Amino acid sequence: MRRNYQNIPRYVPHAASGYALNQNESQYPLPERLERAIRDVSLEALSRYPVEELLALKASYADYAGVEPTQLMVGSGSDELLAILSQAILDTEDRVVAPAPDFSMYGIYTQIARGHFTQPDEQGLRYETLIEVIRSTEPKLVLVSNPNNPTGKMWTLDELSDIATRVPYLVVDEAYIDFTMKDSFVSRLSEYPNVIILRTLSKAFGLANLRIGFMIASEEIIEQIDRFRSPFNVSGLSAAVANVVLRDETYIQESIQFHTAQREKLTELLRPIGEILPSRANFIYVKTDDSEGWASRFLDKGVHVRAFPDGLRVSAGTDEAYALIQQTIEEVNSVENS
Ligand code: PMP
Repeated sequence: MRRNYQNIPRYVPHAASGYALNQNESQYPLPERLERAIRDVSLEALSRYPVEELLALKASYADYAGVEPTQLMVGSGSDELLAILSQAILDTEDRVVAPAPDFSMYGIYTQIARGHFTQPDEQGLRYETLIEVIRSTEPKLVLVSNPNNPTGKMWTLDELSDIATRVPYLVVDEAYIDFTMKDSFVSRLSEYPNVIILRTLSKAFGLANLRIGFMIASEEIIEQIDRFRSPFNVSGLSAAVANVVLRDETYIQESIQFHTAQREKLTELLRPIGEILPSRANFIYVKTDDSEGWASRFLDKGVHVRAFPDGLRVSAGTDEAYALIQQTIEEVNSVENS
């Protein structure tokens, strides 16, 4: 094993029974018309390595994103693309900076690529703090999720553009941007050719199980990073199913409407717990000093949420899950008031 491999945490997934509002998965059920269309996906090419399915998928997603297919790389989730791009960009000990808090895998992929990961110690979502850390650290790569996971905070396009002028490479991770497409950095990509955008079908598109993510960048960057990708990294069956969903005219709008309405309901529901941070994504962050306590009370009712040191991240869910959340909050209030 590599020296200090123990410092790299293992990600051990758990199958959650009950209501999983802890992973920001889509809760919008796949419409029957899409289920039928997916059943029609041909299995004829099962014995062949996937090529055509991937070309078709790139063409559909390029249409959706408003870019050229040559500006895309497809990965087994955006997770794999983070792994590939950090291997491609970083030399040993190169520095990487991200806001705090941000997506936990950024530090892990940096370690795997033998880089050095730095986050601000405090006030890590303030733009000025981030700039200060960039100034003192001089990183080769900055990774920023927008909307931010876990808080939902939006970095403005001007802030991101400014960061892009200060570092060799900026990754804007737009895992949740489908819920607020006008905020996508794609509109500025041609002005900032050192920016790499990550997208996924795991959230608004409700296809986490397919494991499909996209890198959007200049043709030149895609051509460079593509050397670090395994030859057939994405299943053709996944690509074919994704293509059916991407070609549907209204599905993504239906999913966005559903999640937006459910997010607003959730905001009202969680207000008694603490301050709610504004969110345009499919999750809410509520500030509380008792995040572990709340998480375990919700779990007693079968609702999984994610606890952070100063708050809870709760994915937009169904009314059935919300009824259990409401019950939990009412029970706590009635004990407190008695
Ligand atoms: N980036 C962010 C900000 C995420 O929240 C997630 C998933 N939780 C990912 C990337 C990875 O998503 P996937 O690999 O499913 O595309």
